[in-house]
Amino acid sequence: MSSDDRLHAKAQAIYRLLVEEYGQPAWRRHYDPLSELVLTFLSQNTSDVNSHRAFEQLKARYPTWEAVVAAPTEELAAAIRSGGLADIKAPRIQEALQRILEERGAFDLDFLADLPLEEAKGWLTSLQGIGPKSAAIVLLFCFGRPVFPVDTHIHRLSQRLGIVSPETSREQAQAVWEALVPAEVYYPLHLNLITHGRRVCRARDPLCPICALQAHCDWYAGTVPPPHAAKR
Ligand code: SF4
Repeated sequence: MSSDDRLHAKAQAIYRLLVEEYGQPAWRRHYDPLSELVLTFLSQNTSDVNSHRAFEQLKARYPTWEAVVAAPTEELAAAIRSGGLADIKAPRIQEALQRILEERGAFDLDFLADLPLEEAKGWLTSLQGIGPKSAAIVLLFCFGRPVFPVDTHIHRLSQRLGIVSPETSREQAQAVWEALVPAEVYYPLHLNLITHGRRVCRARDPLCPICALQAHCDWYAGTVPPPHAAKR
């Protein structure tokens, strides 16, 4: 078996074992695309709890996207303070919304459903503060487009399992996963890897003795160096 074939077999085994552990989540739209985009800004460098709290505060303070754009930036920053980096995130959110309104004539991202995939990624990442992971989240979660977002949990797991090398960036890891598994499993595999990263393959104290992926893990087998400390 070639090393490529081995990697494909490993990715398939990981997918299958995680479905046995956590089930096979069916795709569903979590938020409307604009809300998801704003949440991706708010989620940068903070926890899900904090970013969702900031999002709820933003929605409570400003009932429409027009109101978010029209708000004094310092006031918007104060409303989302619990999400951290508010003075950076507030102007970026306003800039993005303003650009969408100017380009599309409405607060609407539905054009991303039909745009060629690379163009859709390029459009999203041209927004200040939106990187490949954030773009992938909007495209996968809102439109079911075939992209595989790699967050901090999936990046760590990919390195420990030996799907990618310890030097591989998140963006490179995204391309590796996209080539290894079929597009129809991107969504369930993405969610199940995150669940596994939170519950078992934790950053500082992975629970290897109870891990269902042991047999496929290079770090457990001692063939890759210990993982670096937790990073968010
Ligand atoms: S065996 Fe340990 S390091 Fe490997 S995936 Fe499982 S918890 Fe993570």
